[in-house]
Amino acid sequence: VPVLAIVGRPNVGKSTLVNRIIGRREAVVEDVPGVTRDRVPYEASWNGRAFTVVDTGGWDPDARGMAQRIAGQAEIAISLADAVLFVVDAAVGITDADEAVVRILRKADKPVVLAANKVDDARTEAEAYSLWNLGLGEPYPVSALHGRGSGDMLDAILKALPETPPESEAEVGGPRRIAIVGRPNVGKSSLLNKLAGEDRVVVDNVAGTTVDPVDELVELGGRTWRFIDTAGIRKRVKSASGHEYYASLRTATAIDRAEVAVLVLDAQQNISEQDVRILQTVREAGRALVIAFNKWDLVDEERRHYLEREIERELVQVQWAPRINVTARTGWHIDRLVPALDRALEGWETRIGTGALNTFLGRLVAEHPHPVRSGKQPKVLFGTQATTAPPTFILFTSGKLDAAYERYIERRLREEFGFIGTPIILQQRPRE
Ligand code: GDP
Repeated sequence: VPVLAIVGRPNVGKSTLVNRIIGRREAVVEDVPGVTRDRVPYEASWNGRAFTVVDTGGWDPDARGMAQRIAGQAEIAISLADAVLFVVDAAVGITDADEAVVRILRKADKPVVLAANKVDDARTEAEAYSLWNLGLGEPYPVSALHGRGSGDMLDAILKALPETPPESEAEVGGPRRIAIVGRPNVGKSSLLNKLAGEDRVVVDNVAGTTVDPVDELVELGGRTWRFIDTAGIRKRVKSASGHEYYASLRTATAIDRAEVAVLVLDAQQNISEQDVRILQTVREAGRALVIAFNKWDLVDEERRHYLEREIERELVQVQWAPRINVTARTGWHIDRLVPALDRALEGWETRIGTGALNTFLGRLVAEHPHPVRSGKQPKVLFGTQATTAPPTFILFTSGKLDAAYERYIERRLREEFGFIGTPIILQQRPRE
């Protein structure tokens, strides 16, 4: 799915415009100092075409050196995106901060759509047309608040975004897409360097697919794999404030583009909230997952025991993920990564036939019926696997199954069919 980044200084109405584009109101809040948003990519669609919206807000508007920071933010956004929506406030006109962004946009060769926001009525439309001289093409006058002009702007956005072939076509035969994610200093880049080693493949065109220059193709175990956003791993994004925000933006986008994520943890350190957040992102994106404990050379017996308990405590939600212990620095056990990736991807793409699934569900229901809830007993009537990648099941039920029973079904599904390394999605279709 192509990515649209939204760039602009605070208060131009970016967040309102994002809400307008994604057609929801819940998601985005205005820039508030001290408020970080960690849920960054949003799904959007217009005229039947899907795209991902990356909102690059979230920095502290009170801080100094804002123009510079906005420029930095734009630079990151541009490197991630297929097209950029640049939002200016038509009522205010062009400021220094806007100018800084324009310079970057001119240099980059990504398509830009220029939105002149806060044009709430025809009377103020003229203000938008003065923006022609930015040299970014036609300014689209919009009112994010009222929706005025947003249709034309969205049409222009669709034109700017690359046409993507249907998902299946894009994926067949292409290299597997891996995102290496984790906190700073856990050893992501060391791992990548070790993996790429001498075998690093420097090509930018495989089987007719264009490779995003931020990715890298690496040969492992006789196959080519696409490592997503290695530019982000190799070149640390450094900006004083909002660093963590951009890092998580980058992580979320990489996960979104990948099929399988490798969460790298420093085995010496405790599992942190940030790690848990990344895991949450992987689960919600429905990607396959492998967990790599790095710096194993520094782990002694005592730490190992402690770690076992910590894993039980902190990683219950992702017990299903294959785990490997490695030392990126020396390359110890990094040959275990490919088999772990293969297992995770196999689980991710497992399909259970409807017959086998319903035999299993029938047995499960007989052995352990749903508890009675206020005089009624919810029941699973029938199930079908709607999709793979990740495995998604539709359960036709009478009454609504409670969360505990859903977890029970998931656990039994895993016992029965494996599903190693993948989240499982259960969707209920109550009949009543
Ligand atoms: P990144 O920020 O996740 O990309 O982490 P880096 O790859 O830059 O590594 C951070 C630091 O940890 C560097 O000083 C590495 O040399 C060190 N490091 C990485 N992997 C290992 C390892 O397996 N063992 C040890 N002892 N140090 C490591």
